[in-house]
Amino acid sequence: MFRSRSLALLLFCAVLAGLSGLAAYRVAQRLGIAELQATGLHRLDLYAASLEREIGKYAFLPGTLSLEQEVLDLLSGPRGAEAAGRVSTYLERLNERAGTLAIYVMDTQGRVVAASNWRRPDSFVGEDLSFRPYFREAMAAGSGRFFGIGTTRGDPGYYLAAALAGEQEVLGVAVVKVSLEQLEKSWSTVEAPVLVADENGVVILSAVAGWKFTTLRPLDDNTRAAFDHSQQYNRRALQPLGMREIEGYGHGARLVRIAADGPQIVSVYPVSGRFLAQSRALPGTPWTLTVLSQLEQVDDLAQTRAALAAIAAACLCMLAIIVALRRRHLRHRLAAREALQKAHDELERKVEERTVDLSAANQKLQDEIAERIRAERTLRAAQDELVQAGKLAVIGQLSTGIAHELNQPLAALRTLSANAGRFLERGDAGTARANLERIAELADRMGRITGQLRNFARKSSGQSEPVRLCHALDNALALLEARLRRSGAAVERSCPADEPVAMCDANRLEQVLVNLVGNALDAMAGQAQPRLDLSWERDGGVVRLRVRDHGPGLSDEARSRLFEPFFTTKPAGDGLGLGLAISAGIVRDFGGSLQGANHPEGGAVFTLELPLAPGHG
Ligand code: ADP
Repeated sequence: MFRSRSLALLLFCAVLAGLSGLAAYRVAQRLGIAELQATGLHRLDLYAASLEREIGKYAFLPGTLSLEQEVLDLLSGPRGAEAAGRVSTYLERLNERAGTLAIYVMDTQGRVVAASNWRRPDSFVGEDLSFRPYFREAMAAGSGRFFGIGTTRGDPGYYLAAALAGEQEVLGVAVVKVSLEQLEKSWSTVEAPVLVADENGVVILSAVAGWKFTTLRPLDDNTRAAFDHSQQYNRRALQPLGMREIEGYGHGARLVRIAADGPQIVSVYPVSGRFLAQSRALPGTPWTLTVLSQLEQVDDLAQTRAALAAIAAACLCMLAIIVALRRRHLRHRLAAREALQKAHDELERKVEERTVDLSAANQKLQDEIAERIRAERTLRAAQDELVQAGKLAVIGQLSTGIAHELNQPLAALRTLSANAGRFLERGDAGTARANLERIAELADRMGRITGQLRNFARKSSGQSEPVRLCHALDNALALLEARLRRSGAAVERSCPADEPVAMCDANRLEQVLVNLVGNALDAMAGQAQPRLDLSWERDGGVVRLRVRDHGPGLSDEARSRLFEPFFTTKPAGDGLGLGLAISAGIVRDFGGSLQGANHPEGGAVFTLELPLAPGHG
């Protein structure tokens, strides 16, 4: 598509350039021809003037002979050889002085009676030239002019004849033969060929030697016979010049072609090809002067101008195409920019929409977050409550054990105090003191138990602080001491030499540990030799406590729902299903984790992972 369009444009350019060239050629040729015409006219005037001047110089000469009495006497009286000789001598001198070809005098019969060339063997004297038209014209009209070729010597010349009249009648004719060779020669140096044709259309004068005595128009047989009679052209062949008219321009100007027959260039100008021929009649003669101006230069100039015009048109066309292409390109760019702007605006609109959406979503999210935070707070509060409830539940569970634990020392206290009184009465102060010391010890122990309970039940501060983990485990085990003893469980535990210290809340941690150990004891309830393995492991910045029992392990359901609140497999009244859920929450708060799994060799393993306190890693 694009290709064919480009081709069409190129073709259009070429056609336009061609037409412009043609038009320029035509115009330039017309202008050139017009210019040539003006120059030609000028030349015509110039050449005509020079010819007239040349002929005019001698026009009066034959007539002046009638002023010579001797000439008149010779013509009118008896012609003695002596008188003829004198006149001939006179004519000879006159001829020399005037620079003419010959001067001679004829009687009324046309016979030459005296001639300037009388001394030469081919003298005219005695010749009968009555057949020459100039003689007849002079006899008839008083003067005659004639261009012809001499019959004696064959020299072309211009004959000027004048009747010599006596007092009453014409006595004879005087003739001056003038050579126009000099004039011809001067023409040969001009820029364009020039020719003079006589009334018969025969070229009598021309700077181009080859053109002389050629005919401009065809001659019929009668005319040729007349020429033979008058011997005007002395039996010259009179071949046609071969000039063919192509186009007429008016005012004697026409476009002609001269066939190349013979030399093509004479002197400095070509003599064949296309010419602008301009003719005019020469006043006082029946002749026609023709100037031929070469058209080659005009053609060359027209061709050059045509080429320039074609190039200019092609350039303009190309320029127009370039401008058009550039405009199209600009239009495309503009369209592309508009499209881009549109897309940009659309994008901005969408972004704006989305921003609005986003800010709405953001607002929603913030609301949700706020909601979550509120829920979390509520949950935290509930959790705290639950922790507290859990603690109380543990206390409830432990109450029997605690009561038993306190009753024993209380009973011992009663016995010891009664005994102490009795020993004092007996004056056995030493034994009484020993009893009192024992009482103090028991009171201390009871104080420790109640202190631990108070600690456990107390709402925690929630503040993290470095907590010695083995110590916390000791506290938890101490709390469970009664249960441990009752179950007869063997507790395998060790504390690393470098006691791990974690950042947490000691009370809450103890609560977790009590829970884990309590669950383990529950799981092993009824076993003959329950055993509890408590082991520590450090790993980088964390410490892991593994609580492993040798019970039945975790069922599949228990494993998947272990940390679910209120999930319990224990009989109602025994378990709330809150222990692990609360413990996991507490451990998460410390930044740690709690996981439950089955040990490959049986039993459940609970792994409590806590981050070590800074400086204890
Ligand atoms: P509760 O002890 O009140 O049931 P917990 O959250 O402490 O609540 O425990 C949930 C359940 O997980 C228990 O009922 C029990 O089925 C199971 N479980 C916990 N610890 C062990 C363990 N060491 N061995 C076997 N099962 C256990």
